[in-house]
Amino acid sequence: AAKRLEGKTIVITGASSGIGRSTAFEFARTSPKNLKLVLTARRIDALKQIAQDIVKEVGDGVKVLPVQLDVSNPDQVRSFVSNLPAEFQEIDVLVNNAGLVKGVAKAPEIAEEDINVMFATNVTGLINMTQAVLPIFLKRNNGEGAGDIINIGSIAGREPYPGGGIYCATKAAVRSFTDSLRKELISKRVRVIGIDPGQVETEFSVVRFYGDKSKADAVYANQEPLTPEDIAEVIVFTASRRENVVVADTLIFPSHQA
Ligand code: NDP
Repeated sequence: AAKRLEGKTIVITGASSGIGRSTAFEFARTSPKNLKLVLTARRIDALKQIAQDIVKEVGDGVKVLPVQLDVSNPDQVRSFVSNLPAEFQEIDVLVNNAGLVKGVAKAPEIAEEDINVMFATNVTGLINMTQAVLPIFLKRNNGEGAGDIINIGSIAGREPYPGGGIYCATKAAVRSFTDSLRKELISKRVRVIGIDPGQVETEFSVVRFYGDKSKADAVYANQEPLTPEDIAEVIVFTASRRENVVVADTLIFPSHQA
């Protein structure tokens, strides 16, 4: 795995916490020589700290670039690639991980603002990021794999639950877009990979309850959720297979969620 990732440039959205943060560490630990990591999210201070912590742990064989990027802002996404320093522009792997749920409410009561932010981040943001990075993959013609797009969906996109209608709809959209894109790009040797986690303990539920930590903690009480590392391991596994191997679609959940 380490050898196959050597020299690659990996972009991760939503790298400031949870699954994205763990994925950055997992790539760096797996391939600590000659890897380039572009870590993006809105909280730039958190990204800078993570970048420092990664280099402290694995050494400076890994180059880490923190970039402030709001995926729901189309202008920022459009200029993202051209604003990267040249040495980080030859992207090999895009991990579309940024996402959120806001509120738990029956469909008629969900606030318009929350509907818009979920779609703008989870769906349009992911599509815009894909469009921004894809030209790099498509102009590559070296007879090897041209690049990987790894989209983080959710079990919620497969099994909708009451009170989560909008979030579930965004993740169903991610799944559908991922499956369609895979078929479009397979002949171009672009691997489009969908990973759908079940319950994972991250800041996700804190965001869901507008920052109310006690409500978030109650979600995980008496449960044994997955850790963000569990998902990070799968992400890095899919990106480090032989070029001809497409681990297309993974559903991963804690046993209590079966
Ligand atoms: P976290 O809340 O810990 O992480 C979410 C990340 O997304 C943060 O880094 C956040 O960074 C970033 N983010 C949110 N909005 C934006 C935006 N507009 N632009 C850029 N980055 C943004 O939650 P998770 O790690 O759990 O979530 C990661 C992904 O996993 C999401 O897509 C989520 O839907 C999915 N998922 C999570 C599950 C869970 O149970 N935790 C289950 C299934 C799927 P910042 O605020 O700094 O911008």
